[in-house]
Amino acid sequence: MPKNLIQFQKDFSIPEFMQMYGTEVQCRERLFNIRWKNGYVCPNCASKSYCELKSRSLYQCNKCHHQTSLTAGTLFSHSKLPLTTWFLAIYLITQDKNSISALELKRKLGVSYNAAWRIKHKLMQVMKEHDDNRKLGNIVQLDDAYIGGKQKGKRGRGAEGKTP
Ligand SMILES: [Zn+2]
Repeated sequence: MPKNLIQFQKDFSIPEFMQMYGTEVQCRERLFNIRWKNGYVCPNCASKSYCELKSRSLYQCNKCHHQTSLTAGTLFSHSKLPLTTWFLAIYLITQDKNSISALELKRKLGVSYNAAWRIKHKLMQVMKEHDDNRKLGNIVQLDDAYIGGKQKGKRGRGAEGKTP
């Protein structure tokens, strides 16, 4: 039987993840590079000249003095949680094949249940919106599934009353 390439794709281990995104500075740097791939651009006047207001975590345009925070307009805006918590949540949610529960996320992130629930739903929503905009292409592989509700007796493949 050929090896299932999806199941055997290279994992990102927890130590590898922590080495890359374990600190707030690393997460900020990564987010900066995603938002402004070719360097900071003022959203107001498109000038590339800016300064960082370290005390308030803001970027200020040297030309028009417009101020932007790194997280403004991203899914992290209005969140009091550090980026390290968000990044770890993204890691945990995307690595878990069976969808991690909000309760487990609460335990692993060390946040309240309500915060974990909000994080999970926000991330799932963003992932869904991202997926909705993607068309399937090239080779599409699907797992087989059997539909037909709960019944006693043999389960799964070959169960009576189930339609593949
Ligand atoms: Zn500007």
